[in-house]
Amino acid sequence: MTMLPPPSAKKLGLVIDLDTCVGCHACAVACKEWNSGGVAGPLTDEDPYGAEPFGVWFNRVHSYEVAAGDGQPASTLHFPRSCLHCETPACVSVCPTGASYKRASDGIVLVDEDKCIGCKLCSWACPYGAREYSQVEGVMKKCTLCVDRIYNEHIPEESRQPACVQACPARARHFGDLGDPSSAVSLLVAARNGADLMPELGYRPVNKYLPPRPRRAAEGDVPAMPKDEALDASQLNPLLRWLDRALSR
Ligand code: SF4
Ligand code: SF4
Repeated sequence: MTMLPPPSAKKLGLVIDLDTCVGCHACAVACKEWNSGGVAGPLTDEDPYGAEPFGVWFNRVHSYEVAAGDGQPASTLHFPRSCLHCETPACVSVCPTGASYKRASDGIVLVDEDKCIGCKLCSWACPYGAREYSQVEGVMKKCTLCVDRIYNEHIPEESRQPACVQACPARARHFGDLGDPSSAVSLLVAARNGADLMPELGYRPVNKYLPPRPRRAAEGDVPAMPKDEALDASQLNPLLRWLDRALSR
């Protein structure tokens, strides 16, 4: 059992725009490249050129076909998935050795691989499938929010952001302090009705997802877009509920 620190004022995290993500996987590849050479060490692959390759990826992008309905045409939804750096993460509290921990200073959830015994309790506790076990090293790994980039004074200031954010060609990924209501990411979440993933579980993810905007549709099928382009909750919930169901499979 590992104790959680009191909630931090600073809550670093990602805001991911499901409206503009094009499913190119640039974020996942940039993540793998940076972290394999950084503090997280090798993100190992097994049978990479075989029939069933498998390996450690901190960020995975899933694509779903969404059937037409509610006045919306059929579409493809791309859903990047990584650790959400939850406020009350059971992945930390179930850890028997203290290897999983949440930083009091900025809320980032990390794994100390020297303390990890590979019991996998944290991966059972995480409802988002964000933990990645290295069969080769026998330890658990996860997104570090590029902690070795964002505070790194040896790289240009504009590069002090997670590799996935810097690589995204669609600008679908944003990084910042979600504990500060006046930060750019907080304002973006407020303007676009950003939402938690599976809030009913009570893990209180720091990362937020911005829902897709309504697509073209037959006249009269879809309510007019409000002036500020915000969606109301009754429009958002069906999509997020659907995404939750898809994730839970
Ligand atoms: Fe832990 Fe999963 Fe939340 Fe990340 S997303 S903090 S691994 S419970
Ligand atoms: Fe989506 Fe950006 Fe990742 Fe490409 S790099 S999959 S557009 S979030």
